Amino acid sequence: MDIEKIRQDFPILGQTVYNKPLVYLDNAATTQKPRVVVDSMQELYYTVNANVHRGVHYLSARATEMLEQARERVASFIGSESAQNIIFTRGTTESLNLIASSFTKAFVKPGSQIIVSAMEHHSNIVPWQLEAVRAGAELKVIPVDENGNLLLDEYKKLFTDKTVLVSVTHVSNVLGTVNPVAELAQIAHSHNVPIVIDGAQSTPHMKIDVRAIDADFFVFSGHKMYGPTGIGVLYGKRELLEAMPPYQGGGEMIKHVSFEKTTYNELPYKFEAGTPDYIAAIALARAIDYMDGIGIDAIEQHERELMQYAMQRLSAIKDIRFIGNAAHRSGVISFLVGNIHPTDMGVLLDRLGIAVRTGHHCAEPLMNRYGIPGTLRISFGLYNTIQEIDSLIAALDRVIPMLS
Ligand code: PMP
Repeated sequence: MDIEKIRQDFPILGQTVYNKPLVYLDNAATTQKPRVVVDSMQELYYTVNANVHRGVHYLSARATEMLEQARERVASFIGSESAQNIIFTRGTTESLNLIASSFTKAFVKPGSQIIVSAMEHHSNIVPWQLEAVRAGAELKVIPVDENGNLLLDEYKKLFTDKTVLVSVTHVSNVLGTVNPVAELAQIAHSHNVPIVIDGAQSTPHMKIDVRAIDADFFVFSGHKMYGPTGIGVLYGKRELLEAMPPYQGGGEMIKHVSFEKTTYNELPYKFEAGTPDYIAAIALARAIDYMDGIGIDAIEQHERELMQYAMQRLSAIKDIRFIGNAAHRSGVISFLVGNIHPTDMGVLLDRLGIAVRTGHHCAEPLMNRYGIPGTLRISFGLYNTIQEIDSLIAALDRVIPMLS
């Protein structure tokens, strides 16, 4: 990978902040966008903008065709059996809310049990809680060990004849743990229970094959993988999506409407009420092309080297405590140093041009598990460099003595 050339594709990275070169290590929150993605959005607005699906005219037909090509592109990117299994949403959060709402209406009864894990993002906890309260269902939680691994034996013990669904993250946005999702799926399926995989933190970093995982649902966000904000994906197996009622009502999700009875459109449109963000969806396909152009394997290899180098350099810091030491990790490193509050460290690092994230990372139950208020998290993208890690370490060497 020619990183210097790649960095030229991301104009934002060339900035200075407080007269310091920007070192952007907050990619798990959102990634920067390459020129091809941003340019494509401008070009689409200038040349093909028209509402999709409804028009007989040229522009509408062209926009519709490009949206459906984008759906095909997303389908091939994650190994979906068909583009009909791909529903465009606003992001991971909306995808999870959609599943929680529609799946619950179709399959959840009073007393039903839904399994999540202790390392979930709030967006894979709260939608289930909201629905569980409504339906009289109960959440069960797969515990994590000290290193940030899910306890598989405990997971197996959670299943009962009341279990209706499992929903777990592929990669933890705090610990970086890559969960053995194919194995989790196989265990769920041995109990005839479907599984939702939150791919928000895996799609930017590794090859995804929903059929190899045998995921019943797989969700992710465009903005975390070099695409635009406001667009996300929900993949679902056909028989489940067919059995679930629509999430929202409105235009395009219907076949026929009368005041007596409304019939719903076929997949995937049944779940896409209203005008979709077709510009963002098409631009997401450009982001996928961009990643594929570099090569997912090359991205994975580059980020692995960054991770190893960062771990080696960080480990030399006195009193550093890593939150998450799983054998299989990707994307993020969370840590604390002595008794220093992570926010204080983050604020001072910012002044040196280093963008990191601090806090609970929308995973309060996980913070409680480790008895900490939050962490300082660095997270990698395909454009980060070894020199940037050196800059981070140099900055930490300045900041830590000031706060100790
Ligand atoms: N799940 C995980 C694991 C995440 O890291 C995030 C974003 N931090 C989300 C879900 C929510 O994604 P979004 O805000 O794009 O909907």
